[in-house]
Amino acid sequence: MYRCLIKDFETRPSVTHLLEHPFIKQAHGKDTLLRQQLSVLIREQQDVGSRTKTRHERINTRKTLIIESCPDDDLVNLELLDEETIIAHLQKRYQDLQIYTYVGDILIALNPFQNLSIYSPQFSKLYHGMKRSTNPPHIFATADAAYQSMVTLCKDQCIIISGESGAGKTESAHLIVQHLTFLGKANNRTLREKILQVNPLVEAFGNACTAINDNSSRFGKYLEMKFTPTGAVMGAKISEYLLEKSRVIKQATGEKNFHIFYYIYAGLYHQDNLRKYKLPNKTAPRYIDCVNGKVMQDIISSKLYKEQFDAIQDCFRIIGFTEEEVNSVYRILAAILNTGNIEFASASSQHQSDKSEVPNSEALDNAAALLSIGSEELQEALTSHCVVTRGETIIRTNTVDKATVVRDAMSKALYGRLFSWIVNRINALLQPDTNICAAESGMNVGILDIFGFENFKKNSFEQLCINIANEQIQFYFNQHIFALEQIEYQSEGVDVSLVEYEDNRPILDMFLQKPMGLLSLLDEESRFPQATDQTLVDKFQDNLRNKYFWIPKRVELCFGIQHYAGQVLYNVSGFLEKNRDTLPADIVVVLRTSENRLLQQLFSSPLTKTGNLATSRARVTAASRSLPPQLNSGRNKVDTMEMMRHPEETTNMRRQTVASYFRYSLMDLLSKMVVGTPHFVRCIKPNDDRQALRFNKERVMVQLRYTGILETVNIRRQGYSHRILIQEFVNRYYYLAFRAHQMPEGSKENAIIILQKAKLDYWVVGNTKVFLKYYHVEQLNLMLREVI
Ligand code: ADP
Ligand code: MG
Repeated sequence: MYRCLIKDFETRPSVTHLLEHPFIKQAHGKDTLLRQQLSVLIREQQDVGSRTKTRHERINTRKTLIIESCPDDDLVNLELLDEETIIAHLQKRYQDLQIYTYVGDILIALNPFQNLSIYSPQFSKLYHGMKRSTNPPHIFATADAAYQSMVTLCKDQCIIISGESGAGKTESAHLIVQHLTFLGKANNRTLREKILQVNPLVEAFGNACTAINDNSSRFGKYLEMKFTPTGAVMGAKISEYLLEKSRVIKQATGEKNFHIFYYIYAGLYHQDNLRKYKLPNKTAPRYIDCVNGKVMQDIISSKLYKEQFDAIQDCFRIIGFTEEEVNSVYRILAAILNTGNIEFASASSQHQSDKSEVPNSEALDNAAALLSIGSEELQEALTSHCVVTRGETIIRTNTVDKATVVRDAMSKALYGRLFSWIVNRINALLQPDTNICAAESGMNVGILDIFGFENFKKNSFEQLCINIANEQIQFYFNQHIFALEQIEYQSEGVDVSLVEYEDNRPILDMFLQKPMGLLSLLDEESRFPQATDQTLVDKFQDNLRNKYFWIPKRVELCFGIQHYAGQVLYNVSGFLEKNRDTLPADIVVVLRTSENRLLQQLFSSPLTKTGNLATSRARVTAASRSLPPQLNSGRNKVDTMEMMRHPEETTNMRRQTVASYFRYSLMDLLSKMVVGTPHFVRCIKPNDDRQALRFNKERVMVQLRYTGILETVNIRRQGYSHRILIQEFVNRYYYLAFRAHQMPEGSKENAIIILQKAKLDYWVVGNTKVFLKYYHVEQLNLMLREVI
């Protein structure tokens, strides 16, 4: 059951000594069994790495201890492959705290809901450059495989982490970054430290407490770690997707705003700086406590929030933000909180019943002062708007409701842009040093941590976007694992019986197709000022006729979608407004007058989303060639320049909706993913109560079903997950069968000679490619390292 490999013991290790080993410590309570096993298998090995060392060192042998091997680490090895067996197997492993299991090269990670002591640097060492079967499955092994494959094959890699909200994606992403920073041991310690601060920093701004997860990511994140050709880490770049901005102004019952608001409140309170940032100290601002303002005491007295604030300050400092920048960030956050407290009342003028005013100017003055703009100008921009008709500018007043909407739109825009700015700034600070190594010559490992599939009691526009993104990731997974595989076998003349799988392409088409997909219909309706929730539902009903969409009979203003992960009912109220996400030009104009440099940058026009427009455009075009045709549809219609604008800004150009911006982001993300070799981590939530060791069979079963794990087991067992062009294969591995100077021809026969010499089983040589099982590549690379 337990197995470990302990290297470099001077003498034969004692059992007591071994019990100190991290794996064994983890297996608490099993001492008797362990002692029996420990005494059995101690093996001595010549230390391969010592060949070039001194004679004295050379005679040192590496003592390796192996405690029983575990074929059940990989579901592919199970004799029976039905759901029941797989579930029972995972359950047994989970009870033994074996949270990781392989399905061939895919890693299943069950959330342990407790801290495990298996992530220390000792473990990073243990998994470094090891054959997969040497150690039990681990997230470090996946990170290691991606890294080794990048270095050996000189190819970009991407690790795609998926799973429901609360399944453990973000934690897994952290652990991968941790292991990769360990592997890419740059001489530059500072850079390593900086990279480790990236996740905590962006998560303070992009994560929040939800009903499901106390640290739920409210944005999608793709982190690319950049390495030199020799594998030393040289920088990082982060891309963010779809921040749930609406959370800034309102949260569902039992949920909270983004973490950072609480952190700064507690932190500034302890620094006695609340007054400096004009934050009220009696009642909490509406945005962070919309219920009754009573949570104030809890927030400011929270030790945890204060510690997090200190940690965030460290993150800013280590990554390299200037004090002035950090101060501006806090000022903008404080301004947002004050903005939320601005109240409007009907102005008592007889002629203008639709006019609003600000009866108590304290919050308004505070917000204006923090934003370094004029208080009167801000009030003007909130309570009135300019309309240009036939070349003439007319000022119209805003009703109380309209003014409130404008106020909230301003807060959302401020937060959204601040978030993008922080991300861009991090990227600038972590950009590879082009003096040391030209960025183009490096390689990267991308890590995708995207919000999981969501199905709440009430689902809105945000859930729709999140679920479409997950639908797209699932499609990519299917494409990679099933569809492309089968197409290739056929064209190569390799016989593999076809495996059925659930193709979610029709659902994706229903969402993304132009002009009749759900998002296009939503956009069209958003353009009509008179559109209502009812007209939107009607439009959907009239145009979406397929089995994945329906209008429930007894629930008003709702529509249902049959997602790959289950049925979800969406409530359309607010869909149109959320999609339009307008920020009146008047607000942009007044914010641009700010004396605050950061604010000026946030609202300078045109604001680009992620740095260099030209590179983004080039990448999207390049990637379009390698995307599956479905993802490519409508690509030419996308105007990159327009897409790079912030969605909420109203300009003279056609207005950008959230849906179209979202469609673009999704495409941009895929374009990055398809260029790399993918590695998949499937996170599974064993129960909904966040309880350690509780394994809810039904819940796990559902997740395994919709993520296609069962089919994956089949295809991985029968299939060949790696394929290399024959020529390339011979070039790379001929050392295993030929002499170095021989340079054999890249023929099918020579490939077969090499494979036979390497004594591998179950490989196939097709018309143009060599097909290998997932474990072959590892074996070949290891042999290669030994002969070179
Ligand atoms: P997701 O990103 O999928 O929504 P998270 O990664 O935020 O989920 O995980 C939710 C919670 O589960 C974490 O806050 C943590 O408490 C727990 N958790 C997840 N993975 C692990 C792990 N490997 N070890 C310990 N706890 C974990
Ligand atoms: Mg997360």
